[in-house]
Amino acid sequence: MTKFIFITGGVISSLGKGITSASLGLLLKSRGYSITIQKLDPYINVDAGTMNPFQHGEVFVTEDGAETDLDLGHYERFTGELLNKESNYTTGRIYEEVIRKERAGEYLGQTVQVIPHITNAIKKAMRYAARKNVDIGIIEIGGTVGDIESLPFLEAVRQMRLEHGRENTVFLHLTLVPYIRTAGELKTKPSQHSVGKLREIGIQPDFLVCRCSRPLNDSIISKLSLFCNVPETNVIEERDVEHSIYEVPIALAEKKLDDKIIERLGFQASKADLTEWKKRLGAITSAENTVKIGVVGKYIALADSYKSIYEALTHSGMAQNTRIEIRKVDSELLEKGDEAVRKQLGDLDGILVPGGFGARGIDGKLVAIRFARENGVPYFGICYGMQLAAVEFARNACGLKDANSSEIDKNTPYPVIHLMEEQEDVSEKGGTMRLGSYPCWVQNGTKGQEAYREAVVMERHRHRFEFNNEYRRKFSRKGMKFSGISPDKKLVEMVELKDHPWFVAVQFHPEFKSQVLKPHPLFSEFVRAASECKSRKCKEDA
Ligand code: GLN
Repeated sequence: MTKFIFITGGVISSLGKGITSASLGLLLKSRGYSITIQKLDPYINVDAGTMNPFQHGEVFVTEDGAETDLDLGHYERFTGELLNKESNYTTGRIYEEVIRKERAGEYLGQTVQVIPHITNAIKKAMRYAARKNVDIGIIEIGGTVGDIESLPFLEAVRQMRLEHGRENTVFLHLTLVPYIRTAGELKTKPSQHSVGKLREIGIQPDFLVCRCSRPLNDSIISKLSLFCNVPETNVIEERDVEHSIYEVPIALAEKKLDDKIIERLGFQASKADLTEWKKRLGAITSAENTVKIGVVGKYIALADSYKSIYEALTHSGMAQNTRIEIRKVDSELLEKGDEAVRKQLGDLDGILVPGGFGARGIDGKLVAIRFARENGVPYFGICYGMQLAAVEFARNACGLKDANSSEIDKNTPYPVIHLMEEQEDVSEKGGTMRLGSYPCWVQNGTKGQEAYREAVVMERHRHRFEFNNEYRRKFSRKGMKFSGISPDKKLVEMVELKDHPWFVAVQFHPEFKSQVLKPHPLFSEFVRAASECKSRKCKEDA
């Protein structure tokens, strides 16, 4: 029978609930339990697809094409479990379903209310883990306890305990225990208030996981225990880690969080095997080599906007004993001709242009791409980064003046990137892109093939525009190779340059498939090429 762990957060947002949930998932999985993780988000958007990355961070895409909260990326990267549409529900999605049923007359004249109709729909979503028949379903409730929007979700959590029994449900509350410098001590009051709020709703946490910058001493633990009504043994310290989020599972295992949860759920204790994980982690602190990768984008000010890209680079670095120094290059400054930013390019061992939308900052990205192409600096283009590589190549290598993507210039004489006919009259913005996993044929004798060592690969997509096939012949003659195409040969999925150390650009998003223990082959080859570029530069300097 499936058992459930519910994770709530208190005091402030950004406490790392997603990382804590993902870490717990990894620990339980590495003990041999089957798991799945879900995120329930109280916001009203039906999915994360229409949300601005500046505000909310990146949109993560699952195999089946769900546009989800970025925490799902952490879940996959940590646990290796592939998630899907059932793994992320929002208030909007729950209401959409209830309202649809009401319109269809399925409630037979009842008054449709938050309790029981909305809470029933939430519980149905939460029981996905049981439908999947896994041992443990970890369910993270987004937002912070006390928010108006999270109330129906917390009410549903309370009901889940009633219906599934205490022995099958665990409540874990993540809270902040701040250190106040002037007083010279850690403070428990915010946690007391947050747990107080939870108890008002009828939820008594079984575990209190405390984010803190200093160790919790015995007196703080007993105070938290007394005021929050949680046994001392279940007050768990989650201190800030020093180098990487991938240290969190190890830190939680040291505090025996997984042991205690397993015991609480009545499962047999078995040892977690984290050898490989620890080995990879070692590379973060003791890497002998460093490469500088420039990520050129308009959202670089917000750390979460290109989360999966940064993480995918890190995974490849961890596997190659290489520290990745990420240099964030602001495409808008580059576009304005900022000298310092332009100079920054010369210092890089590899340049990556990630996905994006719209015209802002694209001239800056084109400058970076041209620089990489002309100077033999390894280049990795992802989605928009491939489309813009095509625009740059058209303009500067093929002499097609004013070539563009029709997303940016509808009247360009050379629309090297355009909408396929069937996409032309889409007016709705949510969920209307090419989304999710599609096959790609990898051509022999290409860098793509060297990386993948497979003839057919599946990769995830999130875009509307495509490479315009009218330009394939011209581009080929000028030295571009079409190294990945769709099985029906209609869509260009991967391109590369013949006379360049490593210039590969893809229409899909490989970053979504990279995991700590399974780095993505294209990222790994890119990092390897960057290391070579660095040693080449060192030789030239010598
Ligand atoms: N804006 C481009 C498109 O819609 C690229 C999207 C992306 O980079 N994810 O096709």
